[in-house]
Amino acid sequence: MAIQRTFSIIKPDATNRNLTGAINAKFEAAGLRIVAQKRIQLTMAQAGEFYGVHKERPFFGELCEFMCSAPIVAQVLEGEDAIAKNREVMGATNPADAADGTIRKEYALSIGENSVHGSDAPETAAVEIAFFFSGLELVG
Ligand code: GDP
Repeated sequence: MAIQRTFSIIKPDATNRNLTGAINAKFEAAGLRIVAQKRIQLTMAQAGEFYGVHKERPFFGELCEFMCSAPIVAQVLEGEDAIAKNREVMGATNPADAADGTIRKEYALSIGENSVHGSDAPETAAVEIAFFFSGLELVG
């Protein structure tokens, strides 16, 4: 498998609980390199645009409000098979279904407040990285 880049967010429930370092340690232990990272406060408009694919879902408003409720850490992770590897380290969307040792099993509070976001495919990774970072900010 080739070296890939994926987009990651450490969500407000995790930044609130001071878990940025603990979550980054999980990425690094799995062989994912943090090649860009910034802590930012999203607006409702930015959260709505980022999660536009979910706008018809019943939880869309709740999701956008949650993502704006505290700072997030936006990141680009690089490594072999990084998209799938990151999804594995994150665990299932609902922490009740997440495997032992995953970020969501250890830290997520609920299906909504589930500590991390990770791209699900190369196309979405490219769009999500470009939404938050310029090429100059990606330092492998
Ligand atoms: P992911 O790729 O594992 O993050 O999951 P999805 O793409 O299906 O959903 C995006 C995000 O929407 C999830 O990470 C959750 O934060 C949120 N979400 C998904 N399902 C629900 C739900 O049933 N209720 C609430 N409140 N939020 C949800």
